[in-house]
Amino acid sequence: MRIARFSIDGNVAFGAVEGDPTGPDSFEGLVVDIIKGIPFADFELSGTKVPLDKVRLLPPVLPNKVVAIGRNYADHAAELGNEVPAAPWAFFKPSTSVIGPGDAIVLPSFSREVHHEAELAVVISRLCKDVPRERVKDVILGFTCANDVTARDTQKTEKQWARAKGFDSSCPLGPWIETGVDLAAASDLAITATVNGELRQAGRTSQMLNSIEDLVVNITEAMTLLPGDVLLTGTPAGVGPLRDGDQVSVSIESVGTLTNRVTAHR
Ligand code: MG
Repeated sequence: MRIARFSIDGNVAFGAVEGDPTGPDSFEGLVVDIIKGIPFADFELSGTKVPLDKVRLLPPVLPNKVVAIGRNYADHAAELGNEVPAAPWAFFKPSTSVIGPGDAIVLPSFSREVHHEAELAVVISRLCKDVPRERVKDVILGFTCANDVTARDTQKTEKQWARAKGFDSSCPLGPWIETGVDLAAASDLAITATVNGELRQAGRTSQMLNSIEDLVVNITEAMTLLPGDVLLTGTPAGVGPLRDGDQVSVSIESVGTLTNRVTAHR
């Protein structure tokens, strides 16, 4: 099931997306069946269906926290001249960095070099801590696309990445949460980034140095994850600049395509 979050007539709701998109950037032909309740508990479909292009898609989840992993693909670490860390290397992106499909990535005033990073995002289903490897599948609601937008120049000059990777609009998520992809399937999916239709990044999630299981075990050794929390799993090679007016898309096989425009102005 593809679970979207959207606004309609001033109300916010979750819904199950039905139908096949006519193209990667098109929601034509898709309808959303409004969910009674929330997707983090038992819920029912209302049977009330609305065309997806008649609603405004929102970030599919409002995370309490986004935990992201740096240098989890060897070819990306190498392209920036970095060593691969011996263990997962986590950082936070604040909840205020999250935007939804179609929202604007606003280039921060303090940076001259902002990059896209296409990433598979894991959406957590339940409160969990110290998750054993064999239980990881039980704490995952599903998967969505993420763009770990990064002020690369700031990342190089500031030891902590709070500003470089935490500025407003630096965490596009969407277009929906795919719950029908299991952990085994999610561990080998094609992932790409395009800018203005030009392919910039192309990899597979099987290239991750630390698997999704590794990451959930590692993070929950340290902290409690809450329903709706999001884990970003790292980016493959090919990161590059975003400029005012660009359209950037992150596509993940069997999940969907997340498209955002880039602007220098609010
Ligand atoms: Mg990243």
